Amino acid sequence: MIRPILIHPDPRLKKQCDPVEDLSDARRKLAKDMLETMYDAPGIGLAAPQIGVLERLITLDCVKEQGEAPAPLVMFNPEILSASGDTNVYEEGCLSIPEQYAEVTRPKEVRVGWIDMDGNPQERDFDGLWATCVQHEIDHLNGTLFIDHLKPLKRQMITRKMVKFKRERSRA
Ligand SMILES: [Zn+2]
Repeated sequence: MIRPILIHPDPRLKKQCDPVEDLSDARRKLAKDMLETMYDAPGIGLAAPQIGVLERLITLDCVKEQGEAPAPLVMFNPEILSASGDTNVYEEGCLSIPEQYAEVTRPKEVRVGWIDMDGNPQERDFDGLWATCVQHEIDHLNGTLFIDHLKPLKRQMITRKMVKFKRERSRA
């Protein structure tokens, strides 16, 4: 089931999310809905607060090449265990901030731990686009958007555009 994605500014996108305590069938269904919503958008990552669920759950798939097999990842309670000193700059966007892009500097490589769909702990190193994406999604669980990494003027400019976008959308 495809869920509606919240658009910034929205107070639910600024909240600290709660850890997932148990892996119920309802939560697995939620994760499947998130993957479906993410692929439909289309996007390469989605965090539960973006569909209004304030729990620590993200989905990602950074395979972008046509014809390449999809590589969906579902992470409950993801945590950055270590990050490289080297940084990388990517032009980021966000499904909650449509059509706005800006360069963000983040650690180039990160080691992430999480709980998978079967309730098993996982650990993996990420680099390149995957590293940026997983950091962007984990940020969402702490109420941080990619625009929070930008200078205040740029952030305010994007927020004003989004306020206008939401106003026009609600009139349509
Ligand atoms: Zn985002």
